[in-house]
Amino acid sequence: MFEDIVSTFTRLRPTPFSGEVVPCNLCGSAEHDVVGRRDRYGNRLVNVLCKACGLVFVNPMPTEERVADFYREEYRTSYHNAYTPRKKAILRAKKGAFLRHVHIAPVLKTGDRVLDVGSGGGEFVHYMCEKGFDAHGIDPNEGFVDYARRTYGVPIQIATWQTARLKDESFDVITANHVVEHFRDPYAAIRRFHSWLGPEGRMFLSVPSIANPNRTPYGRFHFGHLYNFTYETLAMLARRAGFIQSEETPERSTALIFNKAEPTEEWQLFPDHYAEMRDFFDTYTNRRYFLSPTPYFRWVHRMKRLGGDMIMASVTRRPTK
Ligand SMILES: [Zn+2]
Repeated sequence: MFEDIVSTFTRLRPTPFSGEVVPCNLCGSAEHDVVGRRDRYGNRLVNVLCKACGLVFVNPMPTEERVADFYREEYRTSYHNAYTPRKKAILRAKKGAFLRHVHIAPVLKTGDRVLDVGSGGGEFVHYMCEKGFDAHGIDPNEGFVDYARRTYGVPIQIATWQTARLKDESFDVITANHVVEHFRDPYAAIRRFHSWLGPEGRMFLSVPSIANPNRTPYGRFHFGHLYNFTYETLAMLARRAGFIQSEETPERSTALIFNKAEPTEEWQLFPDHYAEMRDFFDTYTNRRYFLSPTPYFRWVHRMKRLGGDMIMASVTRRPTK
């Protein structure tokens, strides 16, 4: 209980940062609209929409040092409330590892060398090792890497994508599950992934979608998410960095599989995307959200679930004869 109160105050505490105005990471344009001024806890955080390509990102952007500090010390505690993974998070990660393997199975080949970027507690690396792959991980969080090594004995470096000691063309598959939206320069990171992959390389990227009409508008933005992708901006960024979406996974989602190709300047796959995103932000406003029945249904649903949990807790606590 005390821990929960502390964590609530940690979340509400402003996340101060020194930032700098940056051009769009996808197209280089400096023209943008402001689409958010606060994060989900009410702290100041400006998000913009690029007028040339439709990418949404934090601007001013925190400095590299500030981002590194955030991940070294604050991220796991303020976002997930844990320095080492909690039981619930481990179970969720195990389920996630299973589902990710199912998702990428159509493009996997026997004996593939797999790298998981942002490997967290090591569940996916462990799962892939068990399946017979030569799997490795990198993650900057010491607590999580230590847990992964102790629990599963899997090879994981304590490193960011910038500091990792990995040879060019030393992997066949790279996965980054809810990772690149946290990077300050996702284009440069994906270019690095490109160099780590061999000629037949495949890459799995999964990010949350900002264009989700069911998400609460006031809860859209978070300091951890420096980029807020859509299917279109993720596909265009990967295309520019030298990847083509796999024909075996043609879905239009924000969990995509790509094949290694050549970088190209012909990456503008969705020229109307700014207009679509402008329309999205104009349509899904806080005002419209609170005038709709959605938040009230959600509240009733939450109360019902809480009531069910309390009944379950009282039943399981009853002593047996
Ligand atoms: Zn742009």
